[in-house]
Amino acid sequence: MSVTVVGSLNEDVLVAVERLPGRGETVVGRDAALAPGGKGANQAAAAGRLSGTGVAMVGRVGEDPAGGRQVAALREAGVDTAGVLATPGTPTGSATIPVEDGSGENLIVVVPGANAALAPADVDVPAVRGADVVLLQLEVPLEAVRAAADAASGTVVLTPAPPRPLPEELLRRVDVLVPNEHELVQLAGAGPAGRTPAELAELARGLGVAATVVTLGARGALVVPAGGPALLQAPPPVRAVDTTGAGDCFTGALGAALARGDDLPGAVREAVAAAALSTTGPGARGGLPDAAAVRALLS
Ligand code: ADP
Repeated sequence: MSVTVVGSLNEDVLVAVERLPGRGETVVGRDAALAPGGKGANQAAAAGRLSGTGVAMVGRVGEDPAGGRQVAALREAGVDTAGVLATPGTPTGSATIPVEDGSGENLIVVVPGANAALAPADVDVPAVRGADVVLLQLEVPLEAVRAAADAASGTVVLTPAPPRPLPEELLRRVDVLVPNEHELVQLAGAGPAGRTPAELAELARGLGVAATVVTLGARGALVVPAGGPALLQAPPPVRAVDTTGAGDCFTGALGAALARGDDLPGAVREAVAAAALSTTGPGARGGLPDAAAVRALLS
């Protein structure tokens, strides 16, 4: 079994603030902390932690200490980083995130850096062509995402985040689309979120993708096969302390389970359990579970 993630690697800079700044305002923060991030790398770390082996990352970092830290963090999660290329003269991508005390609300400023240099030639590689499952998101150039989908021979899973219009040819090549509720509504060109599962399933079917899995936060996830009935998978009870990166853990776990041969409903059941466990630890990677923890929760 093998999973290859094509996507972003970022260094998150987390700063605690008493109050988020307004436009033109300066506030004093404290406790600046660096954490590994980027949607792609978070998905790879989740899949690596769960699978132990067979997970690879393809992306770009700068030739700087931040890049070294992102690669080291992935290796520590069991991810093969041979496909993470160093990019001279461009910094590693970063996300600066002030987090407000009490409310936990944040602002995010992303600087794509080396992620913006990921080219179609970088992703047309054996790790992508031969993978059982390829996980894609939209924090790298769309041409690279399309090239990876075209090169892949296995199951293609796309997280449409951050949301942007997607070409028909890309959607046709996607086997499983994994939007959250807001991303689905935006992709479908519909009104504000806050719909019933039946309404969401109808929106998902309208996209013309083989299957869609809509993540619904604390409500779990909705599996929508193009042909069959939709199925809502609720999470097991957990005490959530930080839901940052829960969606990335979900998709990494989904990819790992599909690569192992699970069918889509079975893989979603595992992904819902893994993502629930991930919310019990801090930050995007703090609570990533291993396979034993997911098995224990599901048994
Ligand atoms: P995103 O993080 O991309 O916005 P969601 O908020 O939908 O995505 O979360 C992704 C998945 O994480 C959900 O489908 C669910 O399985 C799990 N999850 C998120 N929040 C919670 C929570 N409070 N309790 C249990 N599981 C959660």
